[in-house]
Amino acid sequence: MKKIAVITSGGDCPGMNAAIRATVRVALAHGVEVWGIKNGYAGMIAGDMTVLDSRSVGDIIQKGGTFLGTARSEEFKTLPGRQQAVANLEKRGIEGLVVIGGEGSLTGAKHLSELGIKFVGLPGTIDNDIWGTDYTIGFDTAVNTALDAINKLRDTASAHGRVMLVEVMGRDCGWIALTAGLAGGAEFILIPEAPFNQEEICRQLLASRAKGKQYSIIVIAEGAGSAMSLGQYIRTKAGLETRVSVLGHIQRGGAPTVSDRILASRLAETAVRLLLEGKTDIMIGYRNNQCVEVPIADAVGKKKDIDPELYRLAGVLSQ
Ligand code: ATP
Repeated sequence: MKKIAVITSGGDCPGMNAAIRATVRVALAHGVEVWGIKNGYAGMIAGDMTVLDSRSVGDIIQKGGTFLGTARSEEFKTLPGRQQAVANLEKRGIEGLVVIGGEGSLTGAKHLSELGIKFVGLPGTIDNDIWGTDYTIGFDTAVNTALDAINKLRDTASAHGRVMLVEVMGRDCGWIALTAGLAGGAEFILIPEAPFNQEEICRQLLASRAKGKQYSIIVIAEGAGSAMSLGQYIRTKAGLETRVSVLGHIQRGGAPTVSDRILASRLAETAVRLLLEGKTDIMIGYRNNQCVEVPIADAVGKKKDIDPELYRLAGVLSQ
């Protein structure tokens, strides 16, 4: 393989730039030309791509977002769209791809490989919801952002004796809520994987007040329910003063943490090495401190569960 390309697709996450940088520099070290595809699969269909050298990926390791841009492309979900994308790659002699993105982006790559383009995927999403890897690129930074907010909200919750509700990202999965909630000492962590009862929450809040707890933190994943309506319910039913913070896209930005930069760099190095060995239809995951090959069908086909041990521990520590 003499030419490969790198692409970021779907939702952006901190660490994508570190992954692009490592992909480019490792490939160049193997004497391989690297192209950068702009704006995800939309850019692949439009032929928006450029050759990257070592300097073009300088000064990006510390930046959130992705300097290549990212997008969602409905056209890529159609066969003619993907055929156009493949034609653009073949015209430039690009034989392999490193795809950095979430489950949707990796599914898209799987369909692309059916048309003859080899690829290795990297799990890039703040949600940590991809099967086959302990951590996804961007998760650690997002959790630290959420934790920073919880720490600040704890100060003001304690000053006023309030119930503070913090809504974090996670439409289908509670990894961010669980991890940030556990690290932030939340009294309640509400996640899509574990149904909860609003009345029971009110009962426990009042019981903890009676035991001397002056304030409470509730972390709720967006997919578990609305912090706004739960806050309203607690105010009405329990008569406690509540405040709500919806963190939103702030969790997607910011300088990647040490862990995310190292993770992105290590995964990318393995991805390039295996791609150049002729491997395809795999994702590189990180398990037990090792980079591992994950069949793409498993990565996009199996559901990653939250860690039940973490959930149990959070329950014990919130008493
Ligand atoms: P995030 O986890 O941040 O949402 P993602 O990679 O899962 O990231 P998606 O919007 O699901 O984000 O997917 C990104 C792009 O991948 C889509 O816009 C589309 O172009 C492509 N894609 C997703 N699913 C498919 C599919 N089934 N077939 C072909 N392409 C797909």
